Amino acid sequence: MPELPEVETVRRSLIPRVEGRTIVAVDVRERRLRRPLPADFAAALRGARIESVERRGKYLLLHLDRAVEERALLIHLGMSGSLVVRPRASAFRRHDHVALHLDSGCSVVLNDARRFGLMRVGRIAEFAELRNVGRDPLATPLSAAEWRALVRDRRLPIKSLLMDQKVLAGIGNIYANEMLYEAGIRPRRRAANLRGRELERLDGAMRRVLGEAVRLGGSSISDFRDAGGNPGYFQIQHAVYDRGGAPCPRCAAPIRRVVLSGRSTFYCPTCQS
Ligand SMILES: [Zn+2]
Repeated sequence: MPELPEVETVRRSLIPRVEGRTIVAVDVRERRLRRPLPADFAAALRGARIESVERRGKYLLLHLDRAVEERALLIHLGMSGSLVVRPRASAFRRHDHVALHLDSGCSVVLNDARRFGLMRVGRIAEFAELRNVGRDPLATPLSAAEWRALVRDRRLPIKSLLMDQKVLAGIGNIYANEMLYEAGIRPRRRAANLRGRELERLDGAMRRVLGEAVRLGGSSISDFRDAGGNPGYFQIQHAVYDRGGAPCPRCAAPIRRVVLSGRSTFYCPTCQS
């Protein structure tokens, strides 16, 4: 599943390819995405100029210029979606569902085998999807006081809190595992019990792990591609994720795998406490 660093990578790779471009035509080849695309989807986009590309958590917002203020195309990549920009002439591939043809001669194509992806055109204020999007962990850093407020009275495991999209937007299973390893904190620790210096370590680890992933071009899953069609290479960097039984990169103790809230969870029993 594309996580925050992948979506940020897609955003950065889209910017030089779509900003300032006008959508001249739209091909809808499959309407049945997470929400069915309405009949007027193509007409709502045709002639619109893409002003800028923003990210809120794992949502992308392509700001559109047309008469009505604050209009945008909202995109979520779901479980398996990718956005690729390629020459309009190129043939459609399997699972290419929507193509936005630009005045540059290129097309932005949504490819999504599992069809959990989302595309929606409208006024930003009307996108209910964005209302529960939590704080962006890549944007402004959280202060010590904000971290304390975040964990106060939260008795759930810290890993579950990190993955709560209403609290911090965009952190999925892979990066939650990695940042807790980096911070030396066991995933099952109750959030409310974390001490000040542990929260400080977690804050640093969060920004290092996510920042590094963006720098390396997104991650993680076999079919991830940025908008230029380049694969991400972060998977070679995972310290604990999907490494149950393998030696910890720091102390060589075998990495443990447990299941927490139904998700595979990995940690080093020596380096994390
Ligand atoms: Zn270790």
